[in-house]
Amino acid sequence: MVKIILLGPPGSGKGTQAAMLCKKLSISHISTGEILRQAMFNNTELGRIAKQAIDSGQLVNDKIIIDLIKEKIYQLNEAGYLLDGFPRNILQSQSLDLNFIDAIIYLDVPDNILIERLSGRRYHPNSGRIYHIKYNPPQELGLDDITKEPLVIRDDDQLDVIQKRLIVYHQSTKDVINWYESSQSKKFIKIDGKNDKNEIFNQILNFIM
Ligand code: AMP
Repeated sequence: MVKIILLGPPGSGKGTQAAMLCKKLSISHISTGEILRQAMFNNTELGRIAKQAIDSGQLVNDKIIIDLIKEKIYQLNEAGYLLDGFPRNILQSQSLDLNFIDAIIYLDVPDNILIERLSGRRYHPNSGRIYHIKYNPPQELGLDDITKEPLVIRDDDQLDVIQKRLIVYHQSTKDVINWYESSQSKKFIKIDGKNDKNEIFNQILNFIM
């Protein structure tokens, strides 16, 4: 059973690394952002509640998120899981028992690069697949590689919302990362998220294995 927390600012490559790691380790990918986006896409009650916070770059209510994570973890009986986008603040971090966590991985990327990455990002709503107009373009302009359906810009990838998300990250999530770095130094690794995705992936695997 491998249990991983993957942390980093929006646009740091968490989603990409999470997908690669979960495939390699055969563990479940629990992305709070993706669960909320799918709920919005399907217009469920959760999606309607989350929409306002997400579209304005704010965090969704802590109790909703903590209950969501607890429910997801409870449902799992597989080889392990990777938490992507959780915890985002100290209150959320207190809901996790770190004795059960094997590794805490932090992808560090400066704000100027995050802005370039997020503003060029394109999203396939049905599957959650992500592209970048420059660094990971689809085979056909504006279309998903597999379904050929149109790609969209996420509402929260608009420049004004990106800036708000980065403020929230520096105000709330950075505290959790600093706390993990000082209190969980054996389980914690800080990785330069500017590097090539395969290099980052290998660094993470070396740390875990
Ligand atoms: P992400 O895809 O992880 O960048 O998440 C997109 C948006 O979903 C965030 O900007 C928040 O509005 C919301 N969200 C995702 N994870 C959390 C969380 N752990 N706590 C509160 N809100 C979250």
